[in-house]
Amino acid sequence: MAITLTWIGHATWLVDTGQGILLIDPFFDESPTASMTAGEVACDAILVTHGHADHVGDLVAVARRTGAPVYCNWEIAQWLGTQGIDNVRPMNLGGRTTVPGGTAKMELAHHSSSLPDGSYGGNPASWLLDVAGVRAFFAGDTALFADLERIGRRDANGRGIDVAVVPIGDLFTMGPDDAVEAVRLLSPQVALPTHYDTWPPIRQDAAAWARCVQESTGADARVLQPGERIRIEVVAESTARSASSASPPG
Ligand SMILES: [Zn+2]
Repeated sequence: MAITLTWIGHATWLVDTGQGILLIDPFFDESPTASMTAGEVACDAILVTHGHADHVGDLVAVARRTGAPVYCNWEIAQWLGTQGIDNVRPMNLGGRTTVPGGTAKMELAHHSSSLPDGSYGGNPASWLLDVAGVRAFFAGDTALFADLERIGRRDANGRGIDVAVVPIGDLFTMGPDDAVEAVRLLSPQVALPTHYDTWPPIRQDAAAWARCVQESTGADARVLQPGERIRIEVVAESTARSASSASPPG
């Protein structure tokens, strides 16, 4: 009943479910803040939110080297085929599929999506994971939108989101103020910021954001450094959840 999240930098994350490692939005070698190279990462599945270069920059290289299946929308799957990547699991908004350690549902995001060669990338998405007894939401690149409340709503078993990863960089995504409201709508136990500080135009004070989240939503907001990990543990079936301390980068 635990997963470990590693922030590689920018919007790239690893989710270790205990039954496999999920890689979200592979962007390593052109990222100024990535904590490892595309040639170093190990993963058992790759999940893609949308086609922008800062989310798929190393997708083809990592998919080719690792052979890991790529979960993505139909249009990105078609594009991967033209790049010689055939181990793809095309899906679309609202769909749920199995991934190592549980399930992944492709949820909404309000953004745009084109691929590095300019071709159409389909609809952008977020990912709602139910893995190893933990519910984790990766918002992807998105503006604030009201359906986040629906996504965060507790299910029939009283289970809501354990950890939510939301962009705070502004300019291309929601900024810090809207990201606080996003956390309020999602009502997770733990909130983590992403998609900021990679380049000067999206520089933000993540510590100030985290304090604001704690004060106005009650969620436990943590700020990681690139390469840092956090273990998210669900200790009882419904309400008692906790996050253990983040490990040092390395
Ligand atoms: Zn984008």
